[in-house]
Amino acid sequence: MKILYIIPLAMMLSCCSSVKNQTSASSGKLDNQLLKDVEVLSSDAYQGRKTGTKGAEMARAYIIERFQKLGLKSYPQNVNYAQEFTFNARGGAKVNGTNIIGYIPGKGTDVIVVSAHYDHLGVVKDQVFNGADDNASGTAGLLKIAAYFAKNKPNNTIIFASFDAEEMGLQGAKAFVANPPVNINTIAVNINMDMISHSDKGELYIAGTFKYPELKKYIDTNRKEIKVILGHDDPKMGHDDWTNQSDQGAFNAKNIPFLYFGVEDHKDYHKETDEYSTITKPFFSDAANAVLEVVKVVDKQTGLQKSLKDKMRMMDNPQKVNKF
Ligand SMILES: [Zn+2]
Repeated sequence: MKILYIIPLAMMLSCCSSVKNQTSASSGKLDNQLLKDVEVLSSDAYQGRKTGTKGAEMARAYIIERFQKLGLKSYPQNVNYAQEFTFNARGGAKVNGTNIIGYIPGKGTDVIVVSAHYDHLGVVKDQVFNGADDNASGTAGLLKIAAYFAKNKPNNTIIFASFDAEEMGLQGAKAFVANPPVNINTIAVNINMDMISHSDKGELYIAGTFKYPELKKYIDTNRKEIKVILGHDDPKMGHDDWTNQSDQGAFNAKNIPFLYFGVEDHKDYHKETDEYSTITKPFFSDAANAVLEVVKVVDKQTGLQKSLKDKMRMMDNPQKVNKF
């Protein structure tokens, strides 16, 4: 969920001059499992996966089965990966939501939370809003990253959080940070994906390094097959600052560093035409690889939590750092 506002291009690119000389040429390699996950979750049978509907329940069943096959662990308080929560919808009605939380244990106490919301808008005026890019794509990306780390054990514990009710105001992510399955102080970073499959220009944005510049060292912005652009995270950009426009906002509110991966809004954004046939499949496969690469590089770091939190303290309050 991101709202489209037009801003001067120069302002948008001011942070990322390295991008200007890049030309993107997709690798042309399609990731079949990734595409299959999106095709299934965004099919009409899932009825747009609106929170509280049968379609959302079907999406959960699909994701849970994938988690089980990958051998992800479930925390004792989340029976069969389910974290249930209740919130008040904008109209005041009580709504039940369910996050799906799996994890792969690491060697130390630090935790990386990889997240993507699986809910979407449901059926609106008899039209199924399939939400292929928003956000079956991020959900498939999460499953791809989980599959990699199921085979290649991580240094840090990685939680895979498939959030519900993002479209109703980041409710699943808010419930997660309010009641996390681990001590919240052990969560070093949130890596969130929301809309990573649809870009005619081959551009994938990463927000988060404005507030947490230390995270830049984990990101390779010189990828050949897609343009990786740092931005959309400067509060001066107003609504084009995406910090609070997807689930990473709930982590940022708890001062947990984040990296958010997503594309700019496109013609099919929040329309019934956001469906499997309109995503840019070669871009998507390359974009999901780019996210995986970042998670791999972040996970190589040991002492991650301390490293990131100390740097953040310096940024938040330069005077305070002297006392540490
Ligand atoms: Zn979304």
